[in-house]
Amino acid sequence: MSRFVPPAPLAHHSDAFGFTYPSEVNSLINGQSITGDAGTLKLLYPATEACIATVSAASASQVKTAADIAAETFTSRSWAGLPLEERQATFRAIADLIDKNADELAFLQTCETGIPYHQFRGMHVARAAQNFRFFSDAATTLSGETYTQTGRYLSLSIEEPIGVGAIIAPWNAPLALASMKIAACMITGNSCLVKPSEQTPYSLYRLAELMLEAGIPSGAIHVINGTGPVAGAAMVEHSKVGAVNFVGGTSTGRRIMQSASQGLKKLSLELGGKSANIISDTADIEAAIDGSLLGIFAGNGEQCLAGSRILVQRGVADAFIEAFIQRTQNMIVGDPFDPDVEIGPLAFRSHYDRVMGFIETVAEDGGELLCAGGHPSPDKGGLFTSPIVALTQSNLDRVCQEEIFGPFASLIVFDTLEDAIEIANDSEFGLVSYIWSQDIQTMMTTATRIQAGTVWVNTPMARDLRAPFGGYKNSGIGRDGLPGSIELFTEQKTVMIPTEKLVIPKLGAKP
Ligand code: NAD
Repeated sequence: MSRFVPPAPLAHHSDAFGFTYPSEVNSLINGQSITGDAGTLKLLYPATEACIATVSAASASQVKTAADIAAETFTSRSWAGLPLEERQATFRAIADLIDKNADELAFLQTCETGIPYHQFRGMHVARAAQNFRFFSDAATTLSGETYTQTGRYLSLSIEEPIGVGAIIAPWNAPLALASMKIAACMITGNSCLVKPSEQTPYSLYRLAELMLEAGIPSGAIHVINGTGPVAGAAMVEHSKVGAVNFVGGTSTGRRIMQSASQGLKKLSLELGGKSANIISDTADIEAAIDGSLLGIFAGNGEQCLAGSRILVQRGVADAFIEAFIQRTQNMIVGDPFDPDVEIGPLAFRSHYDRVMGFIETVAEDGGELLCAGGHPSPDKGGLFTSPIVALTQSNLDRVCQEEIFGPFASLIVFDTLEDAIEIANDSEFGLVSYIWSQDIQTMMTTATRIQAGTVWVNTPMARDLRAPFGGYKNSGIGRDGLPGSIELFTEQKTVMIPTEKLVIPKLGAKP
């Protein structure tokens, strides 16, 4: 059983940091805090389930107002018409403000999600700042094409901002994910509407405040707090929204694709995953254990790219599993503000119940629970579970096929690399995969034959913002990175200019 650190009251942490968490959260439309008129939502702190805020939910007509203002701002060119150097300077100022307010941004995200504070403070917030710096720098490398081979024409292909981009975000990495999309959307001059998850109303609102402070015009960025089916759907349906970037669950992605098709909008979907993490018998086992623990348990295991199916080759299975279990049992669960804690509470009750519901399916499907999970100290409350590890006999088991999105590892033992590739690909998802091996042939064969948007070789979860990131199969369509992120939020235009005086056939000129 994992060690458990009971949660201290949130007010205690808040006092220690010197930040308060807003007890009422609205939408940020045109630089104003606007009370939503579609009812209220409650935000519960996952470590205690105490209500820490009420969120007023925006209605479809409020979304329409925000989208109209965003479109007018684009047309006014108050952001789009600035010289690139000025937009870049504003982006750098945003990045600096994110760095300056890193403690608060991490604090808010831990309040919303229960994911350990030190993980947000160490990686996610830095990544958010890096997103703005990256797209600021990348903007100077963007270029069109020139075609000179068509005889009497110089043909230019240029990219133009689409006007208004809509970003719909999940709750598991609020700032690091959405900031990448916001930066990609806005660097070329677009206005932007952002809808955080119902679970995470704080951090993107605060980011938008910092963006305004850095000099983004108030009509160019709007944060819509509200429900998916009302506010999110209204964003997708609005006629002036030209592109939609959605990150979330596969079934929601399907709905959004359907409604975006009515307006033939450009669309990127980053969806769920059930990623295979393959441990070959040629692996550096210690590195594979470290990487596999991080791959499934970082961010409470609430990660699209979690290595949640761990495929271990029979020759190293006993040694790997024994060490993996021992380290898993040693993990520290509890107060997400405690710097030693490695797994915090899961984000909200229905999600917690769903994750815990998978435990009983293990035996039903013929598997064995090696780490049983469950609340380490039920009398203390909060949505805690010790990490869960199941040894399964078949990749068809529910815990191998369904995205659990929690600290839940499913182990499968395989014999040959061919078997591992077949098992890895036997999934509706194809977001990422991991291979641990010291043998070049094993690495190459796996990397080329796995059906996944990213293959990490002997490393957990590395990202290069220039490289494409996205999913095969039901893990999505479209790619982040360059050029995918820019392409989503721009239109290509061809301009043809004659290089000499043309002889144009004269209709209606016959005598
Ligand atoms: P979700 O699909 O429930 O919600 C995501 C967002 O969509 C929320 O903001 C929600 O309000 C909104 N939404 C819901 N219904 C909508 C509708 N009809 N129209 C418009 N918007 C709507 O997902 P979640 O629970 O917030 O996030 C977890 C999921 O996100 C997991 O499946 C995870 O794998 C996925 N995810 C994927 C990636 C990736 O890069 N592929 C990254 C992070 C999370």
